[in-house]
Amino acid sequence: MAKRIIVVGAGIIGASIAWHLAKAGAEVTVIEAGEAGGVATRNSWAWINASWGNPEVYFRLRARSMLEWQRIDRDVPGLDVSWCGGLIWDLPPDQLEAFAVEHISWGYGIRRVNRTEALHIEPNIRKPPDFALHVAKEGKVEPLAAALAFVAGAEAMGVKVLRNAHAKWLEEKDGRVVGVSINEGVLHADEVVIAAGAGAFALLKSIGLSYDIGAPAGLLVHSKPMGEVLHTLLMTPELHVRQTSEGRLVAGADFSGSDPADDPQGAAAALYQKVQDMVIGAELVEMDFHTLGFRPTPGDGFPMIGRPQNREGLYLTVMHSGITLAPAVGLFATAELLDGKRDRLIAPYHPDRLLKAK
Ligand SMILES: Cc1cc2nc3c(=O)[nH]c(=O)nc-3n(C[C@H](O)[C@H](O)[C@H](O)COP(=O)(O)OP(=O)(O)OC[C@H]3O[C@@H](n4cnc5c(N)ncnc54)[C@H](O)[C@@H]3O)c2cc1C
Repeated sequence: MAKRIIVVGAGIIGASIAWHLAKAGAEVTVIEAGEAGGVATRNSWAWINASWGNPEVYFRLRARSMLEWQRIDRDVPGLDVSWCGGLIWDLPPDQLEAFAVEHISWGYGIRRVNRTEALHIEPNIRKPPDFALHVAKEGKVEPLAAALAFVAGAEAMGVKVLRNAHAKWLEEKDGRVVGVSINEGVLHADEVVIAAGAGAFALLKSIGLSYDIGAPAGLLVHSKPMGEVLHTLLMTPELHVRQTSEGRLVAGADFSGSDPADDPQGAAAALYQKVQDMVIGAELVEMDFHTLGFRPTPGDGFPMIGRPQNREGLYLTVMHSGITLAPAVGLFATAELLDGKRDRLIAPYHPDRLLKAK
């Protein structure tokens, strides 16, 4: 008989897990407090990468997920991954070179470029770098559209999606999680997957578990749509900026956005000025709006994937870089939930390393 699985949350992580579970034959219900498409997900910069700043073991998971994006892009209509490449010079030259040496030795496809080559790749940058790195295999998605594409694909395979349904608490029986309480009553299942982003904390609390999970703010600015001025993702010392499929420039102080404290309007205006200083053509186009996303972030910055306290019936997925990781997490969570097989690439990310003492 098919395993009955509830997935709480229809951001990119819950949507990918639901899709992979359904594809593998599970009977899946998604419970989503709002509309499908997530909270962090819809406000994400959505760069698919295995870039600098991480140890090799985490690089390997990210690089695998980049490959999984290629697989899933063929299977799920509407994901529309764009392998546009990244142009990177947001580190001092010596650190940029050290990153190149290290990541090339790990198999990351990096090409060193000089000023002329950088301008060849991106003719519309006002202050081209003397030295940058080009990573042709990095990509982007439009994050809300991608999450909705996963959800539509899951629904087409029979997944039931309950929208505007808040999961109030987890139901337990004899130490096992057996379901989720919503306004209409208790929904029972063989397994409950928490893919609720920053909402995971409250659900875990409902069964007495407390984990070190934060939700820092990330501000991004969006221009009005314009003709194509950028081809790649630009990672510069001043800002990270890319162009969406509808032609908007979307930028943050870096890809994860900055915390604007109590002045989001002022921070957005200052950031957009930097976009106009950087990209030729942007000076003719106004900023349209800014977004403030809250990034589900485990205390040590690495993903949380697995069974909290080895609790039967319960599985947790909380992470930053969820856009990059969504296809691999969907695949590996499904293998663990249905076959009990834990992929070695997620082995380091058991949630309990971040369990807080009572
Ligand atoms: C500004 C910004 C920039 C980013 N840039 C990148 C990037 O370039 N590359 C990258 O890989 N990642 C990036 N990230 C991170 C990435 O977007 C997140 O890791 C990812 O979106 C998390 O997805 P999620 O599905 O776990 O969470 P969410 O998208 O937050 O979805 C969780 C869902 O669960 C629902 N939910 C919560 N509680 C409940 C409940 N009790 N009952 C029912 N439903 C509930 C919510 O309504 C929501 O829909 C960025 C994030 C931000 C904010």
